[in-house]
This record gives sequence, C-alpha cells and structure tokens, in this order.
Amino acid sequence: MEEILQPDPNENYRLRKTKLIATLGPATRSPEKIRDLIRSGMNVARLNFSHGSHEEHEETLNRIREASRELQMPVAVLQDLSGPKIRITELEGDFKQVQDGEEIYLQHKAGAKSAGDTIYLETLNPVEFLKAGEQILLADGILELRALEILEEKVRCVVSKGGRIRSRVGIAFPDSEINLPATTDKDFLDLAWGIEHDIEYVAISFVNSAMDVLKLREEITRQGGHSKIIAKIERKSALRNINEIMSASDGLMVARGDLGLELPLEKVPRVQKRLIEEANYRGIPVIVATQMLHSMVTSVRPTRAEASDIATAVMSGADALMLSEETAIGENPILAIKHLGKIAFEAEREFDFDEYKFRLKEADTETIPDAVAYAAAAAAIKVKARALVACTETGNSARLIAKYRPQQTLFGASSSERTIRRMCLYWGVQPVLFKSPENHERELETALQQVQEVGNFENGDRAVITAGLNVRTPGSTSLLEIREFRYA
Ligand code: PGA
Ligand code: MN
Repeated sequence: MEEILQPDPNENYRLRKTKLIATLGPATRSPEKIRDLIRSGMNVARLNFSHGSHEEHEETLNRIREASRELQMPVAVLQDLSGPKIRITELEGDFKQVQDGEEIYLQHKAGAKSAGDTIYLETLNPVEFLKAGEQILLADGILELRALEILEEKVRCVVSKGGRIRSRVGIAFPDSEINLPATTDKDFLDLAWGIEHDIEYVAISFVNSAMDVLKLREEITRQGGHSKIIAKIERKSALRNINEIMSASDGLMVARGDLGLELPLEKVPRVQKRLIEEANYRGIPVIVATQMLHSMVTSVRPTRAEASDIATAVMSGADALMLSEETAIGENPILAIKHLGKIAFEAEREFDFDEYKFRLKEADTETIPDAVAYAAAAAAIKVKARALVACTETGNSARLIAKYRPQQTLFGASSSERTIRRMCLYWGVQPVLFKSPENHERELETALQQVQEVGNFENGDRAVITAGLNVRTPGSTSLLEIREFRYA
C-alpha cells in the first residue's frame, strides 16, 4: 500500500500505454481546441457521422491534420458511421411532454412530423415486429413505453416512464429482434468520403454478423481504400456472432450506450470484460466507449464511480478509452481528456503485465510474426531492455508486440505516415516516423537512429528490435535483434 501513496518514480520517462479517443463536435472543432486536445493526450479523433455534413467533417479533418503536423504529434482519425439507428421523426413543437399512464401511438411515416398523440418512426414499421407487452425505450432509456395493442397501422402504447420527448431522438426495442442491415445507403456514401480522405479507421454501428463487416471491407477494397474496420458491439445479435465478427474485424468497440438499451444494464459490465478478454487474446484493439466521464459534460471533476470505471477498463486490458458528449458538446472537453489520461496512467501501475504474457502465449502460435513478437516481449524482460522497437511497414508487428503487453516503451518505427497514424490506436505503441533512405539496406539503421533521437536512451541501455528481412514487405517480420546503445 505504501507505494500507492508515492508518485510514480518512473513517471518522467514512462509513457501512457492506454490510448485516448475524443469525439469532436461543436465544443472542440475549432483549431485551438483541437490543438489543446492533442496536447492534452488525444491519440485518436472521432468524427461522428450521425451529425454534420461532409463539408463540415472535411473542415474538421483538415484542422486535425494541420494541428497534428504543427505539433508533430501523430493523431489517427476514426470515422464513425451512423448505421441504422432508429429515430423518431421531427416533432411539431420543440418537445412533447408525456406523463406516466398516458396512451400514445407509434406509427411508420417517414418525413412526417410527429404530432398530437402519435409519434412517427423514420425507418421501420412497428406494426411488423412489436408484440403486446413489449418494452420501448426513448432517448437512451430516459423514457419508457409499453406496447398495449397492435392495430392495423399503428401500435397503441402506454407511457411507463414519462418525460420530455425531443425531435429525432433514438428509439429502441429491447424485446424485439430487428435485423436491419448495419450499413445504410447514407453509410456507404459516408464511407466513400472516408476512403477519399484516407481515414485510418471506420467504425460500423449496430453490427449483426460478420457479413456486415465483410460487405464494408469489400467496398473499401473495391475503392482502393486503407481504412481499418472497428465493429461496434451494441446488439444482442452481435454477441451471438462475436467470434465470426472478431475474425472479420480489425478492432472492436464496446458501445455501452446502445448495448445498455439492448441488454439489461446489469449485463453490460460482464459483456465489456469478455469482449476485452477476447480481443486481447486475438491481439486486435478494443475500445471502451460511452459515459466514461459523463458527469463532466457539465462538471469540472469526475465522479469517484467514473474514475473507478476508467481504471477498471484499463486494468482489464482495454487498448483505448473513448469520450463522446464529454468532448463533443461538453462544457469542459479539455479537462475531461486530461482527467481520462491521468486516471488511466495511474491505473496502469496496477496492470498485471506478467499475467498477460503468460495467458497469451498460446494465441496464434503458428504465425511467424506472432512468434517473433512473443519472443521480443520475453527477451525484453530477460535483458532488462529499456525499449522495444518494431520496424514496421503496416503497423502489424507493433500491434502483435502490444498484444503481449510489454512494460517497456514500445516504439513502432515506420516510414509510412499512414502507418504512423494507424498505430496511434494500438496499446502502448509510440509511433516514430523516419525518412526512408535511398539505399534500402540502410532502412533499419535509419529507423533506429530516429528512435534513438526521440528515445532518450542512456549509455548501455538495451533495446529489443524486430524487423523483416526486407523492411518494406508487409508481413515479413522474422528478425529479432538485441542491441546495446553505446555512446562515445
Ligand atoms: P454511438 O455509439 O455513440 O454512436 O451511439 C456508441 C455507443 O452506442 O455506446
Ligand atoms: Mn451506439
């Protein structure tokens, strides 16, 4: 216990392993705020395509790239596709107040304004799937209805938890199986925008099955894109098909917002724990999202419960933590990301590094890059290395070493700017850009020189290095070298 009271003795050269994602929005899309977010620890900027036009996103994206260049701090961009989130239509007035016990009707009528005692749904017909007795949640579950009777064109409901309904709020049907495809026509248009702008990550909302992911992948490949796919796990069907979804995806998001509507809330922490475990085992990044610092939308300090939630996510193996409203529309976006980073950093001191290496030894035993990654992580302990260096074309070997959760600083050295940005999401990876030399045989030495420049190595420090015979060929990582830095 005594050491908990002490400041981290290694803080000066220890870097935060957990990556931070901030959603940009009205509160943070100015160039100044974007710079502040980057300086305060944002590794990945999320553009939420549930809101905003392409012009607006383009402006935000340019500001991110510009700020990142100016500060010389790499940032990845995550394009979050809205998916088939079911919403009610516009209301006639600003809002509609409903009381407990009041009866209202749900009906499918796209484009019509909801008025009187009827609420219209934009995309689907409630008569086709709702059954009497089933629950309906509005606005993230703040309001509740129950279906009483299925009529010819509409469903008669009773308000079981009243409140204020606003235009275009989300509506969820936790008791019903609705299998809307995860990608809408709008999503495909947005995806094309993302590919055109060389976005690093695209998140796909409301995934049902691996098919949803594969369809997106096919489109990305067809258009010659490079975006990596993050599957947002927020549906019951996704949990049923989780193994296939993970095999098809490049990463996962535990989308606790919608997951908490689809499932009884008390099941969400267990799902989070399992998803993190599974993703860790496969060595794909996993993001914990939604309400991590919800109180900070209006407050300047997190609650104790929020601090605990963040620490739990870190200690159970999350690669990245995400803020939504906190940074998009919150009153204290910069404070929020600073608190997120500080709590995560401190929680990492309690992280069970050894347990990870042991548990993951069995994963992917047959692939050569994975074997090299495991050997590198083990060798780093053995020789008391200060750092690991993955010389990487695609970022994959850095991701594979990260899978073994090394305690030492892990540098991902690449001459590709896209790879540098991609690695911003990977747990513990510090991306280092080097300029590719004319003579390719000098590639490794050039990479190491650059790492030495940023790494603050002292005389005698050791580094464990992995590379391919040909550093430029993806998937060729097969070499491991241990080097001692000697300065004259
Ligand atoms: P959303 O996704 O914010 O796009 O809804 C995250 C979640 O559901 O938690
Ligand atoms: Mn969601």
